Amino acid sequence: MKLLEYEAKEILKDAGVPVPKGILIRAGDDAGAGAAQIGELVVVKAQIDVGGRGKAGGILMADSATVQEVADRLLGSRIKDVPVHAVLVEERISIEHEYYLSISIDRSSGSPLILFTSSGGVEIEEVARTNPDAIRRAVIHPLLTDVPGYTIRYLLDGAPRELGPVINKLYHVFRSRDALLAEINPLVTTPSGVYAADGKIIIDDNALARQGISENRDLTDRERKAEEFGFSFVELDGSIGVIGNGAGLTMATVDLITVLGGKPANFLDVGGGADRVRVAHAVQLLGSMPGVSVIIVNLLGGITRCDEVAAGIIDAGVSQQVIVRLAGTNEEQGREMLNKHGYRMLDTMEEAVSAAVEVA
Ligand code: GDP
Ligand code: MN
Repeated sequence: MKLLEYEAKEILKDAGVPVPKGILIRAGDDAGAGAAQIGELVVVKAQIDVGGRGKAGGILMADSATVQEVADRLLGSRIKDVPVHAVLVEERISIEHEYYLSISIDRSSGSPLILFTSSGGVEIEEVARTNPDAIRRAVIHPLLTDVPGYTIRYLLDGAPRELGPVINKLYHVFRSRDALLAEINPLVTTPSGVYAADGKIIIDDNALARQGISENRDLTDRERKAEEFGFSFVELDGSIGVIGNGAGLTMATVDLITVLGGKPANFLDVGGGADRVRVAHAVQLLGSMPGVSVIIVNLLGGITRCDEVAAGIIDAGVSQQVIVRLAGTNEEQGREMLNKHGYRMLDTMEEAVSAAVEVA
């Protein structure tokens, strides 16, 4: 789950990383008095979950006389088509230089990866394209509780030493908050010291409960429903709805659709032993997706009974064509029920997927 800038900055501040003095203003709040106390010169920043707000007009300069008007204007607006419900009013700092610092997971080693470059402020993807050698990288052994001093010196590559402690503090944040990403861009030097001028933290969804977060704000309504039912569900942007049991079979179905020239609309693993009600929920969930023109149900009956699955598909009664491949326990009963109700049941996964691609 992505945290907004002001939330990330609260965490950074608690970890001892200096952040500019600021105040959060939500739509409907009175921006006047509180914001004016922040200072004579301020920056008003849209609190939305998109990058590059600066370029898109989501970061505005103001002073104590104009801050109310500027905050109100930003609060009613949309930046990159995202409505602004809150703004962060911060003291304006005199930036001398902008650096980039992030910690993410290196996929190949499964360990924290620290990136640092003196070319901060702009998007890191841009630096990676135009000046890749300017980015210093260090993989940290996940059992280390601190970033070794020699690694910090390597990363800084001659940048001011006062930035070093921030690297270690961000590493502590990354570990203790179960983060997938902890980023400060820009990390800045000013005449009054080092500051995190921006902050971004993404918490691993699998760690939300441990982090005391009861609700994942980033889920779509459908993903939330799927979570309630206990399905593993990911929305994609194709037209063929996919239901499988077991992650392997479901993933193979998604792959085969792609190989045969179709576009999967989702990944949905109903899990083992799915009964009539669960199957009906799964089919209806996909039936409610506007882009779905056909649904393929590819299930292996072990503890899952094919007659239960057939009943669930019939109960769901969705408007889209449902193509079924069922094999295993009570297969014949399932086939009879589906045939009686006019559903197509095919013997192999290849046949079923080809048929679905054709319909789509
Ligand atoms: P982003 O565009 O969404 O990444 O938003 P940032 O918070 O990183 O702000 C974009 C840019 O605005 C920064 O790189 C800075 O150049 C500038 N900026 C932000 N806060 C301040 C500030 O307090 N003082 C000054 N001078 N510039 C700022
Ligand atoms: Mn930024």
